[in-house]
Amino acid sequence: MAEEKTKVLIIGSGPAGYTAGIYTSRANLHPVIYEGPVPGGQLTQTTEIENFPGYPEGITGQAMMDDLRKQAARFGAELRADIISKVDFSKRPFRCEDDHGNVIIAETVIVSTGASARYLGISDEEKYRGLGVSACATCDGFFYRKQDVAVVGGGDTACEEALYLSTLARKVYLIVRKDYLRASKVMKKRVEERENIEILYNCNTKGLFGEDGVEGAHIVRHLGTDKEEDFDIAITGFFLAIGHKPATDLFRGQLELDNEGYIKVKGATSHTSVEGVFAAGDVADPRYRQAITAAGSGCRAALDAERFLMEH
Ligand code: NDP
Repeated sequence: MAEEKTKVLIIGSGPAGYTAGIYTSRANLHPVIYEGPVPGGQLTQTTEIENFPGYPEGITGQAMMDDLRKQAARFGAELRADIISKVDFSKRPFRCEDDHGNVIIAETVIVSTGASARYLGISDEEKYRGLGVSACATCDGFFYRKQDVAVVGGGDTACEEALYLSTLARKVYLIVRKDYLRASKVMKKRVEERENIEILYNCNTKGLFGEDGVEGAHIVRHLGTDKEEDFDIAITGFFLAIGHKPATDLFRGQLELDNEGYIKVKGATSHTSVEGVFAAGDVADPRYRQAITAAGSGCRAALDAERFLMEH
């Protein structure tokens, strides 16, 4: 198996990883980017991106990631559609191993492995993905102006997404599996007071229906009790807001993570708990999770790595 040395190893692609690649390659650091199981990340699975500055006509997630990839390659980043499966951050330089057993000895590592939205696990989510099912109201809400939509979840994200959608859609159903919202009091109050939001407590989604896209959802109230009741709601958009899972299994025990599994960074920097390892994008961001914020944090991680290399 091969062994190679690099100044910068970037684990994960998407806007954070590619941006870190653009910056570090322009700084002549010859980064190696392992693009991971889904090169380009989550955005390759969305449809149109209309809120990334610089694209007045919008752009598909796939096209944007292709452009970012080309931009990183243009300045000399080495891109590999492969996976890093082992890391050892206990001493520097760091020893990392890919899926084929090749060893990379890296002076710095930028982790940008992202996070993925949790789904309910019903088959209709897959069937209607991009045809009415979405896990990002900020990304896709605009397509549902003056229509009826539903948000699933009872946490702060669900409330935030429902409130956002209520400014665009005609009506928003908030489907909550318990008889209360887990969200903070202030969010709960806002949702309850918004006229065009209807909260469906004690409700679960059994399935979706529609010819060429979502036209409605089959709901069950009081599932598994003697009060169980089935009904349908007419909606064209079905938004999941039941949490995200950061892709950090590989780093457990090596980097400090928060309770949800996100990588902890120091203040407004990309420094992790290990000197020389930096984090960028959704893997360290439970809050914003936008393409533009991920790209910005990829730039920060690149500059932090560059400075670190200069100082060491
Ligand atoms: P949370 O884990 O807080 O909430 C997830 C919600 O999804 C819960 O209501 C949960 O239900 C529900 N859920 C989970 N699985 C299912 C399922 N299979 N079917 C139906 N419902 C399900 O995640 P959030 O993304 O909302 O928040 C993550 C963190 O980020 C929190 O700490 C939150 O406070 C924070 N945050 C803060 C914001 C702010 O301050 N503005 C904005 C957004 C997030 P149940 O309650 O029954 O478990």
